[in-house]
Amino acid sequence: QPHTDSTGRRVVVAAPRGYCAGVDRAVVTVERALETYGAPIYVRKQIVHNRHVVETLEQRGAIFVDDLGSVPEGATVVFSAHGVSPAVRDEARGRGLKTIDATCPLVTKVHHEAKRFAREDLDILLIGHAGHEEVEGTTGEAPSNITLVQSPADVDSLEVRDPSKVSWLSQTTLSVDETMETVRRLREKFPDLIDPPSDDICYATSNRQAAIKQIADHSDLVIVVGSANSSNSVRLVEVALEAGATAAYRVDNAGEIADEWLDGVRSIGITSGASVPDDLVQGVLDHLQRKGFPVATEERLTEESLVFALPPELRRDLRAGA
Ligand code: SF4
Repeated sequence: QPHTDSTGRRVVVAAPRGYCAGVDRAVVTVERALETYGAPIYVRKQIVHNRHVVETLEQRGAIFVDDLGSVPEGATVVFSAHGVSPAVRDEARGRGLKTIDATCPLVTKVHHEAKRFAREDLDILLIGHAGHEEVEGTTGEAPSNITLVQSPADVDSLEVRDPSKVSWLSQTTLSVDETMETVRRLREKFPDLIDPPSDDICYATSNRQAAIKQIADHSDLVIVVGSANSSNSVRLVEVALEAGATAAYRVDNAGEIADEWLDGVRSIGITSGASVPDDLVQGVLDHLQRKGFPVATEERLTEESLVFALPPELRRDLRAGA
C-alpha cells in the first residue's frame, strides 16, 4: 500500500524506470573510452538522449558532434546508442577514424531484420518518427525498401510495389498500444503482412510503459523525468494520459516542476525514461517532500536483469591496457 499522509496525499514511483541496458552500456563506453584513450573522445550525436548525461560527459572531455565532418583525422569517435547507417560507417572508415560502436544491440537487431527483409525483396514499412536518429540509421540499411509510417492515420495512403510482399519493423521506443494499432491497420490493408521475428519495441520501453500505466489511472498528476528529444520519455507522458492520469508532464529535472501543477493534487505518479540517471528522479522526490508531500512508495511491476557487454573493439583495448 502506498504511504499516504494525514491529508490523503501520496507519491508513487514506478519501477522499472530509468536506465536500460543499452543506455548503461553506451554511457559506460564513453567513460571507459575517456579513461583508456584520454580526452577528447568524440561522440557522434548525443550518446543517449539526456541533457544531464551529455553535459556530465562533456565536462569529462567528450565532444559531441552532429556529423563526422567535425571530427579531426585519426581521432576516436563513439557511435551513439541509437545506431548509424552504413553510410556513416563508410564515411568514418574513409576518414581513417577509430570508431567504437555503442549502438544498442536491440537496435542492431532491427538493422539485421531490415537487411534480411530487403534481401528477400520485401517492402518494409518502418513504424517510427521522422528525423529520429534511430529511424535514420535503420532506414540507411535498406533505403529503397523502407517507407516510414508515423501513425495509424498514415496507413490509408500507403502504397507498396506488391501487396503480397510487405513486412513491418518499428523503432524500439514507441508506444506499444499505438504501434499495435498501426500494425492492426497495416494487416487490414495488407493481409499477407510479414511480422518481424520478434518485437522491435524493446523490453525497457514496454516495461516502463506497463509500469506507469498501473499507477497513472489513480494519479492526479504524473511526472516523467526525461529530455524533450527522448522518444521513450515523451511516449511515457502520452501513455500516462491514455491510462487515465488527470495531468502528465515531462521535466528534465526537479527545477522544471511548476508549483501550480501541485495545486490540489493528492496522488502523484513518477517515472523516468530509459536514458535518465536515477539521481534526477531522487531530485524530484526530494522536491515533492519539500513541497509537503510524503515519502514516495515504489510500485514494481517486474525485475530487469539484462546487461550488455561493452563493444568488442573497446574490450580489446581495455584488455591490452591501451
Ligand atoms: Fe536499447 Fe531499448 Fe535502451 Fe534503446 S531503450 S538503448 S533499444 S534497451
